Amino acid sequence: MLMETVVAKFGGSSLSDAGQFEKVKQIVLADPRRRFVVPSAPGKRFGSDTKVTDMLIAAHEAVSAGKDVTAYFEPIRARYLGIAQQLGLKTDIGRELDVIQYAIAHGQNVDYTASRGEYLNGLLLAEYLGFSFIDAAEVIFFDARGNYDAARTQEELSKRLAKAQRAVVPGFYGSCIDGSIKTFSRGGSDITGAIVARAASAAMYENWTDVSGFLMADPRIVDNPKPIESITYRELRELSYMGATVLHEEAIFPVKQAGIPVNIRNTNRPDDLGTRIVADAPLCPDDTITGVAGHKGYTAISIEKAMMNSEMGFGRRVLKVLEDYAVSFEHLPTGIDTMTVVVNDKLIAGKLDDVITSIYRVCSPDSVEVTTGLSLIATVGRGMVRQPGTAAHLFSALRDAGINVRMIDQGSSEMNIIVGVETHDFEKAIRAIYHAFVK
Ligand code: ASP
Repeated sequence: MLMETVVAKFGGSSLSDAGQFEKVKQIVLADPRRRFVVPSAPGKRFGSDTKVTDMLIAAHEAVSAGKDVTAYFEPIRARYLGIAQQLGLKTDIGRELDVIQYAIAHGQNVDYTASRGEYLNGLLLAEYLGFSFIDAAEVIFFDARGNYDAARTQEELSKRLAKAQRAVVPGFYGSCIDGSIKTFSRGGSDITGAIVARAASAAMYENWTDVSGFLMADPRIVDNPKPIESITYRELRELSYMGATVLHEEAIFPVKQAGIPVNIRNTNRPDDLGTRIVADAPLCPDDTITGVAGHKGYTAISIEKAMMNSEMGFGRRVLKVLEDYAVSFEHLPTGIDTMTVVVNDKLIAGKLDDVITSIYRVCSPDSVEVTTGLSLIATVGRGMVRQPGTAAHLFSALRDAGINVRMIDQGSSEMNIIVGVETHDFEKAIRAIYHAFVK
């Protein structure tokens, strides 16, 4: 029988120096199923350190500003030479660095430059693990419009992986039709890991980082929140306010399509089980919520008009105004004669007055009211579905904490309840909800 495959992606802090490389090697070699490894570029070794990717981008900016690249490239060179020397690696990394420095100095674009952090780390890691090296530029593709080309990538990459026993594929980048390098958005090695997992039909996508998975709430707000052992892809999307810092939002889609579970693990505490992200997870009756997370910085635009409910096309006209101003909406709570659109402050900044004027012009409402300084809090849990009393429990907790709820939105899946509170109540509300459900 064929052995199952596990794809292991290691983040920047997991590969920030020679000592971290040693930990990664131990982890990879401890399980022969870990056949494909996706590295990030070396990240921070300590709080005030600079990530290699940031140094590369700074080097590119320096060249664009007409400066000499040498001083910017030296610390990058030192990072890789240090790792190679300490681990006794033979790869001619000095030559690779020369080629890259020359290319940056002679106007290579920012994507090429930023991607070299992963490329170089991949070369070193492949030698150190005794794995083959597959350049992501040869197997991960973007189409003519610069969008990720899933079909072409899946075809080429799966063929290539089928021929490899064990390989390292650097994260974060691929190539365009003309052969030029393009990167995903920042943190995009997570996406590469998910793509490789899908192409390898992996049994598991392990994402190794510097935390032992997700916590049920932000530890800066709640003392010692419990870890989340398992969470469904859908719940994670609902909790995306908190998830994005641990796992890139777009990394879920390739593995979700293929039903491959993700395991967030901690390179510095490899015995911790971490969080598993799965398609379906059993409901545990005493664990009604999976997590609570929120975000500050929202504005609610409430539009009132008598008989709105029977006016054909009213909602469409309101949303068309937002679309015309390139503002996407976050939530849309409605009443019989009212409709509220909740938008992110960053998106509406500088446009609010124009949007309101247009709504008056296009929709002839009786009134439009704006509430600023809102925070949204999502309480999410597959255990909330068809559980009578969950909402009552949540709102009693907020009432007992003296918090005024400005907005309520429950998804029809019953898996999430989103409340809008005034920003000065944000932390208090999260603590109240957490403690109401987690004993
Ligand atoms: N090195 C890239 C970044 O810093 C990609 C990644 O680490 O996932 O954004």
